[in-house]
Amino acid sequence: MARILTDSHNRAIRDLRVSLTDRCNFRCFYCLPHGEPPIAPKEQMLSYEEIEYACDVFVELGIQKIRLTGGEPMMRRDIEQIIYKLAQLKDRGLEDLALTTNGYFLPHRAESLKQAGLDRITISLDSLKRDVFKQMTGVDVLERVLEGIQAAKEAGLEPIKINAVIVRGHNEDEVADFAAFAREHDVKMRFIEFMPLDSGHDWSREDVVSGREIRERIEERFPLVPVDEVRGSNTSSRFRFADGAPGEVGIIAPVTEAFCGACSRIRLTSDGQIRTCLFSTVEYSLRDVMRDGASRQEIIDFIEGVVMKKEPRHFINDPDFVAPSRSMSFIGG
Ligand code: SAM
Repeated sequence: MARILTDSHNRAIRDLRVSLTDRCNFRCFYCLPHGEPPIAPKEQMLSYEEIEYACDVFVELGIQKIRLTGGEPMMRRDIEQIIYKLAQLKDRGLEDLALTTNGYFLPHRAESLKQAGLDRITISLDSLKRDVFKQMTGVDVLERVLEGIQAAKEAGLEPIKINAVIVRGHNEDEVADFAAFAREHDVKMRFIEFMPLDSGHDWSREDVVSGREIRERIEERFPLVPVDEVRGSNTSSRFRFADGAPGEVGIIAPVTEAFCGACSRIRLTSDGQIRTCLFSTVEYSLRDVMRDGASRQEIIDFIEGVVMKKEPRHFINDPDFVAPSRSMSFIGG
């Protein structure tokens, strides 16, 4: 029988997020607010060969979904090459190969990503207003990202998901406008609660717009109907529009409605560290194990041992919570 990675809380691990780089060309204040952070030296980064090998082992261990992320993954040179290689794992059990990007490079590259074998794409878009977009991301490129979304559609990278982090005092007044955008462009809009993963450690509970408030704001204009009876291991609660309009809405509420009990995720950072939770304070160096010449079986044993240490839940809401030292851009969101 095929093996499935399972943690000590009996959760099957099916979903791997791979960060391709720590570098990013945006400066989103909720992620990388305080200038240029130290970037891992090239020799510490996993090469494409190492990523391919690690993913091959993970797929043997039952991983069905791989999502490439970062930093900005499209800043890694020739990303099409690694997509092409990972797409070959579909013959061995991989079901879904996805990418999360800020969309900046998509106008000219969406087609080549599709041709390389990418299935789906998630594009971050925090505001539909040029000035707010610039204020939140640090760059004045709203139009270009909108073109990128259009290019992804034309390339057939569907269903397209759009991620918006909703932060009090910045974009909570746009929530219903985003829902209108989802209807107009037939995309899956994902609203994400602001998490304590900013490099400046400025996060405060008052800045969090709860999933419940997000839903209420949407329903003032567009009544919603839940898509799934049970959420399963999905990060978002999904809704369709009650009037049958195209598009979908998802609410990701890790702060106010933690969904750790069904978590199926594990992460590999661009410098080869396995993280068992976004909020882990420890990492396990798969890179060192691979570079020390471990056999495939030794690598499998290492990964299985690490997965057994996966945290039961995150501790954001505990009084003694300590935010991880690495921000989202280093963990791979
Ligand atoms: N650069 C790519 C992008 O912009 O989508 C991929 C990496 S980015 C870290 C992945 C996702 O994490 C983005 O949708 C981003 O908005 C989200 N993110 C980053 N910091 C966050 C935070 N503190 N709270 C919630 N989401 C965050």
